Amino acid sequence: MATARENQRSILQSQALLKYILESSAYPRESEHLKQLREATLAKYPYWSVMSVPVDEGLLLSMFLKTMNAKKTIEIGVFTGYSLLGTALALPADGKIIAVDPDKEAYEVGLPFIQKAGVEHKISFIQSDAFLVLNDLIATGKEEGTFDFAFVDADKEDYIKYHELLLKLVKIGGIIAYNNSTLWFGSVALSENDEMEEFMRKGRKYLIELNNFLANDPRVESSLVSIGDGLTLCRRLF
Ligand code: SAH
Repeated sequence: MATARENQRSILQSQALLKYILESSAYPRESEHLKQLREATLAKYPYWSVMSVPVDEGLLLSMFLKTMNAKKTIEIGVFTGYSLLGTALALPADGKIIAVDPDKEAYEVGLPFIQKAGVEHKISFIQSDAFLVLNDLIATGKEEGTFDFAFVDADKEDYIKYHELLLKLVKIGGIIAYNNSTLWFGSVALSENDEMEEFMRKGRKYLIELNNFLANDPRVESSLVSIGDGLTLCRRLF
């Protein structure tokens, strides 16, 4: 069952339709380990569990990674690892994922399910702020242009900063995916004068800036996909 908070947070405003999509199409396709990780997340973090990538979006990302033959990826914003486990399952046996989050405790909630799924060897978890890790990767001089895919699902105010660094790390033709690009009840489409909670007003400002920037960045082609609460895919052109 989709919870009330899941419904509220989706870009799709028809709760009945969201429920239909999840129950008729997404849940039946979700792997057993992902389902267990999702349930453990809900039990441990009843309030924050909505931060996990929704099941229908997870299925899209998985198919997408396989279609593009992704082998080396980076994930910024792991939480309990729902999108991370989905990615690890989609990558080939010798695939590699660098996963970055300052919160190791949440990662450890999902880790047993990653281990049971037999994909832990693909993951290097780094407990850190992403900005430091991205700069370190660039500083090695060996990582530029080597990543097939980057999934950004963290602090919204830094997405534009991450974009510059990820454009160096992702190969030409590779994808940078920004989650929550229309975050929080579609608040990017509200007007400045509309009533909204403070956290929403703050996040909205950064996301409007990001969306405008990406729509006009000649270095990428982009597509804002209306799934979850918005997923912007950017393909590096040069
Ligand atoms: N992709 C996850 C959800 C991520 S929630 C899933 O599908 O389950 C957002 C996460 O971003 C949180 O765990 C938070 O700790 C992390 N985060 C916040 N600021 C960050 C930063 N500066 N660098 C890396 N991660 C950050």
